Amino acid sequence: MSRTTRYDTLAAARRRPPQVDGNNAGADRRHRHQTIEELFGSDTFSVSEMRARLPKAAYKALMETIQNGTPLDASLADVVAMAMKEWAIEKGASHYTHWFQPLTGLTAEKHDSFVTPNAGGGAVAEFTGEALTQGEPDASSFPSGGLRATFEARGYTAWDPTSPAFIVRSGGGATYLAIPTAFASWTGEALDNKIPLLRSMAALDAHTRRALAAFGVEARRVTATLGPEQEYFLIDEEFFYRRPDLMVTGRTLFGAKPPKGQELEDHYFGTIPERVLAYMTDVERELYRLGVPVKTRHNEVAPGQFEMAPIYENANLAADHQQLTMLMMRNIARKYGLLALLHEKPFAGVNGSGKHLNWSFAWEGGNLLEPGDTPHDNLQFLFFCTAVLRAVERHQDLIRASVAYAGNDHRLGANEAPPAIISVFLGEQLLDVFEQIERVGSASSSKQGGLLGLDIAVLPPLSKHAGDRNRTSPFAFTGNKFEFRALGSSQSISFPATVLNAIVAEAIDEMATELEADLRKGMALEDAVRAILAREIPRLKRIVFNGDGYSDAWHKEAERRGLLNLRNTLDALPHLGSEKNLALFEKYGILSPREMESRQEIVYEQYFKTVNIEGETAAEVARTMILPAALRYVDELGQIVKRNQQLGIESDGALSILRETNGLVNQLTGTTAELVRQNAELGGDDVHSKAHHMRENIVPAMAAVRDVVDRLERLVPDDLWPLPRYRDMLFVK
Ligand code: ADP
Ligand code: MG
Repeated sequence: MSRTTRYDTLAAARRRPPQVDGNNAGADRRHRHQTIEELFGSDTFSVSEMRARLPKAAYKALMETIQNGTPLDASLADVVAMAMKEWAIEKGASHYTHWFQPLTGLTAEKHDSFVTPNAGGGAVAEFTGEALTQGEPDASSFPSGGLRATFEARGYTAWDPTSPAFIVRSGGGATYLAIPTAFASWTGEALDNKIPLLRSMAALDAHTRRALAAFGVEARRVTATLGPEQEYFLIDEEFFYRRPDLMVTGRTLFGAKPPKGQELEDHYFGTIPERVLAYMTDVERELYRLGVPVKTRHNEVAPGQFEMAPIYENANLAADHQQLTMLMMRNIARKYGLLALLHEKPFAGVNGSGKHLNWSFAWEGGNLLEPGDTPHDNLQFLFFCTAVLRAVERHQDLIRASVAYAGNDHRLGANEAPPAIISVFLGEQLLDVFEQIERVGSASSSKQGGLLGLDIAVLPPLSKHAGDRNRTSPFAFTGNKFEFRALGSSQSISFPATVLNAIVAEAIDEMATELEADLRKGMALEDAVRAILAREIPRLKRIVFNGDGYSDAWHKEAERRGLLNLRNTLDALPHLGSEKNLALFEKYGILSPREMESRQEIVYEQYFKTVNIEGETAAEVARTMILPAALRYVDELGQIVKRNQQLGIESDGALSILRETNGLVNQLTGTTAELVRQNAELGGDDVHSKAHHMRENIVPAMAAVRDVVDRLERLVPDDLWPLPRYRDMLFVK
């Protein structure tokens, strides 16, 4: 009989110095003596590397592509490949890979050696322009949502020169060059997250420049900017490997709420535990090396939960860097005996993890969502801000669908994450400006923040923002950007960003067309803009909500306003393929209807598979771990009762526990049998009916099993309980 769980807790709680193993030691030592400036981007084929290594003409041409989006001249490829290869080999790379983002939401790579045998029987390092620009990984095993049959295998990766190549250093001394690429099928359809993102950026660029031109501003290039805040949990790896549910599904399928959770709110922004800080520092340095500008780190609300955020970058780079960040967070944790959990809801009863996607757009002259001190007379800002409102108002469904998947169903709509209803928080100052426009057609003043006096002579006066923050809103204006808060922690930010770019591009396109027409009629710019705002804002007000998004009152109010409330994945998903949304993506050349429908299909399939695996895992753990533990306890209690009877001792106490435990054992066998029965059914042949079988039958069957298991956990002796408990996992640091 194994009674070791408690000992594991003790072992895990013991101070554990970071293990510096042979190969990482070199990297660690190198890092430790480098300043951030030296380290930052040192393993990327950066602009300064290019300047130093490329012939002047080639460098200039490449910069044209990177900075201004000019089409890449194919003849450049050989020159760049040569320079990149030399640089990578100096860095110790032996292989190169086209690094891409298939629709699994993760990244993929296939390695090729630089070394090619030569005629003399030796080997030379070879890397041609063609090898740089185009790769041909087998596409058949990546999700294609019906775009490709299994036998139609051909897929291509294409070099994205706007995201710098980088060096990956992995344990065991493997060092290789990774080249960011886009991934498409032989038929030319997008099979990845990068292609639609780049296309959506191009649409936003084109239409925003048009609108700016109407304002008399000649912009060279407009880019979407993204700053994703990443929440995650860290637990000791000892526990992870003792929990098949965590290992297989990324979340605990069982676990009684600990007596102390986040009630005391003593973890948020608390001092970061030493082991965690060592881990964070290591992750940050690795990311600096790759040119990822990580900036903030802190404890989050739940015990064992943390957050990390970079400085914002252009959307394409930010999306690549976010994937790298998640990768590094996962990989490096192991060095510290930790596991980084990126799942949206690893633990029931304590907060889950999200990802806040800060979004804005800028031209070379600055951020287009910067209101300045007097937003009421900043017509250009009001125009673009109104365009965002118009986009969100019209496409609530698409925004909601962009964050719909199984993991996020545990979060959205629960009282810790934004509600599933999409609305916009504007803040006091802007709301006031918009309300003035709504009332009288224009705004004449902006509320000011002023200074916050603390009445303590030695403390400096604080400058106060013009409005408070609101953390219950899914889409909040936070000073000079919008913060889309409904993303799940494990999600790729590319698709939600693609949606934001696309819908805002459309709104700007339409508003710019109106503006241009009015200007042609001879209207003055200011009058024309004011007229558009006066027309738009009253209509858009229903999407604006500054109050408490968690409250029941808001749910009723939202219903009255006719806003959508798409509670879970399967409610939201049909909207991905609606006529309105297919038309939008097609019109702006972002995804064809076929590509869109294939994506929708993939999300259905992933939903079905995720819940299916959870159902199977729950049944297995219940039958092979929980039930035996409970039966052992019943057996122990039975023996006690029997002995008491032989000795003529009164045994009411033992008997009542025996009855209670035995009762739960009976319930557990019943609920587990039902889960097993549901698991055996797949719910039909197509992914839609399978997905619905998961939501309607598997999810409730799992909940019924969990309910009994969690009650047993409070009853069965600690030394018999086979799974590490929440209190162990969440509080050992
Ligand atoms: P908070 O917790 O207040 O939301 P953080 O500092 O944790 O703030 O995160 C704010 C994020 O927003 C950072 O990643 C920051 O770089 C990003 N951000 C700031 N300005 C912009 C912008 N113009 N466009 C996109 N993201 C931005
Ligand atoms: Mg935030």
